Amino acid sequence: MSQFWSPIVHKLEPYIPGEQPKIANLVKLNTNENPYGPSPKVLEAIRLGVSDQLRLYPDPNATELKQAIANYYHVDENQVFVGNGSDEVLAHIFHALFQHNGSLLFPDITYSFYPVYCQLYQIDYKKVPLNENLEIVLDDYPSENAGIIFPNPNAPTGCLLALSEIESLLQRNTNSVVVVDEAYIDFGGESAISLVNQYPNLLVTQTLSKSRSLANLRVGLAVGHKDLIEALVRVKDSFNSYPLDSLSIKAGVEAFKDRGYFETTCQKVIASRKWLTQELVELGFDVLPSSANFIFARHKDFDAAQLALGLRKQGVIVRHFKHDRIDQYLRISIGTDEENRQFLAVLDPLV
Ligand SMILES: *Cc1c(COP(=O)(O)O)cnc(C)c1O
Repeated sequence: MSQFWSPIVHKLEPYIPGEQPKIANLVKLNTNENPYGPSPKVLEAIRLGVSDQLRLYPDPNATELKQAIANYYHVDENQVFVGNGSDEVLAHIFHALFQHNGSLLFPDITYSFYPVYCQLYQIDYKKVPLNENLEIVLDDYPSENAGIIFPNPNAPTGCLLALSEIESLLQRNTNSVVVVDEAYIDFGGESAISLVNQYPNLLVTQTLSKSRSLANLRVGLAVGHKDLIEALVRVKDSFNSYPLDSLSIKAGVEAFKDRGYFETTCQKVIASRKWLTQELVELGFDVLPSSANFIFARHKDFDAAQLALGLRKQGVIVRHFKHDRIDQYLRISIGTDEENRQFLAVLDPLV
């Protein structure tokens, strides 16, 4: 605390990211990184980009990357926004589109960055409870609101909403922006980007951190009506003209071009998720149906915090949230086959 702080800083309760340990050889299943590296073509693009040209500022509009994304999703380039991780894209969305009278709505159990942005940008919010199966029920979202945001699949549950459920919401909720945070959509869901031309209040965000194995590079995107994108561009250009460096732009382009590598690695993660789910069920866990690159599981007899500690002592880290309703669950990121086996080998004697 300091007298020099702006008043709002005293009240901020920042987001706490999952641990990035300095110790080698841990089985790291705590932050939903992709267990497989990025496409070799992405790495090659980065190598080629390392030159004395780095003395120049990058393209402030990241045009090449926007074009690659526009091609991939069959939208116009002016319907695409990119930023330094989808976290930054989300921050600009909260700033540019959610500061209205009334309350922003999001699930009671969801990505814990949303309330942090609300605090930073002084946005009122209401949490809408998940049902008893920890699923989002969009019919429960009141029509009086200053905006709606939810991840699909939801985090940290992994539960997926069908596109038809999202479309029903959009049909009745036409007076505020609806944001679908698709950080994990490539692991088994259907993107709502196919709906953006029908619903001018729909904005879809994605990230290259999970399904495209580039968490370190910090690349996120939003797709929606050009007027929503323009609002984001105005905020971005009032904040940082160059959120993406040229290496990230080039790497991002290749990540969208190399479909083969992307599809193969996503399928491997999906197959491992299925296998790991069965193994956990055999060990006495209840496992929520996941469409993401992690699973959310609760043991019938053993305390989740104790299990997380026991795993940690033997070099395996998973995520445990000390939040109401979910404090008996562990969130386990899908690892390589070897990591998944090591995790089970350490877990087995604990339960
Ligand atoms: C990981 C994640 C993000 C942030 O991704 P970055 O692009 O790495 O900033 C956003 N939303 C959800 C739900 C996530 O899980």
